[in-house]
Amino acid sequence: MNNLHVKTGDNVMIISGKDKGHTGKVLQVSPSENKVIVEGQNMVTKHVKPRRQGEQGGIVKAEGAMYASKVMPICPKCGKAVRVGHVEKDGKMVRVCKKCGAEL
Ligand SMILES: [Zn+2]
Repeated sequence: MNNLHVKTGDNVMIISGKDKGHTGKVLQVSPSENKVIVEGQNMVTKHVKPRRQGEQGGIVKAEGAMYASKVMPICPKCGKAVRVGHVEKDGKMVRVCKKCGAEL
């Protein structure tokens, strides 16, 4: 079950660490690890070994997972990173912006 305050496809802002203030789209969430991967952020260098003969190995850059607590969703109405609240709507829990109440 996904208990994180962000989900895949969310626009988020990074609120701590070296990428603080950057924004990006959530590409992947890992609720079991409490981690997310944000497009273009927390780039890490990976060494890739050639898997097959004739294939080139090398160094590639890829997004590294970061703790979900480092990111906050951006409210489309407020236009900034906001805290997320949960309210019941039509029998389902939906995420809302704690500031303006807009559904996220
Ligand atoms: Zn808002």
